[in-house]
Amino acid sequence: MRIDIITVLPELLQSPLSHSIIKRAREKGIVEINVINLRDYATDKYKSVDDYAYGGGAGMVMMIEPVYRALEALKKERQYDEIIYTSPDGIRFDQKLANKLSLLNNIIILAGHYKGVDQRIRDNLITMEISIGDYVLSGGELPAAVITDAVVRLLPGAISDEQSALTDSFQDDLLAPPVYTRPAEFLGWKVPEILLSGNTPEIEKWRLEQSIERTRRLRPDLLKDEK
Ligand code: SAM
Repeated sequence: MRIDIITVLPELLQSPLSHSIIKRAREKGIVEINVINLRDYATDKYKSVDDYAYGGGAGMVMMIEPVYRALEALKKERQYDEIIYTSPDGIRFDQKLANKLSLLNNIIILAGHYKGVDQRIRDNLITMEISIGDYVLSGGELPAAVITDAVVRLLPGAISDEQSALTDSFQDDLLAPPVYTRPAEFLGWKVPEILLSGNTPEIEKWRLEQSIERTRRLRPDLLKDEK
């Protein structure tokens, strides 16, 4: 899979995309991630990518021309399945959408900044708009990193124990069961007996029961189709 992220702040994305599972997936060639500096596609000597809003009002607006030029340069090289704009009013990002995106070959994520982007970019150049939640961040870089992380960990081979991603919360609309590690007892707090039993079928049964119980208690909305 290839993920191209267009941003005015490439530095903000360096660290989140350079560690742990993403780092290993990049090294193994499972995903290619490119961070593109929008300023490289500016048309003036000041490398301007934003301007005042028509009609007045506070805040700058990202200009269409640099974005168009950046997208054209990428699209000349390959076909993209989705061109995503991160936006608080986009569709809400969740595990199902992460699963869907992980099946694609090439995606672009445009990280907004300032007051947002010129509406003509959204109307004509973008194929999908994604929000990571009902709050406003300063820019789309953290949302782009969130989307990329959630997607990359689902790619085959990205996680050494492939089952691990499949047993995470929200797969199958269930929250993950609790996990424990050594010591078996700490300050009198004990690990559930069943996990020490070595009885794999019974452990799996216990984990499923725990998942269902936790989901009912913490996120009953996920079980809305339950009879
Ligand atoms: N004026 C915009 C509004 O009220 O919807 C907010 C602009 S915000 C300060 C700057 C940029 O951050 C947005 O263009 C978007 O790309 C990104 N952003 C902020 N919050 C986000 C969220 N919850 N999900 C996805 N992107 C977000």
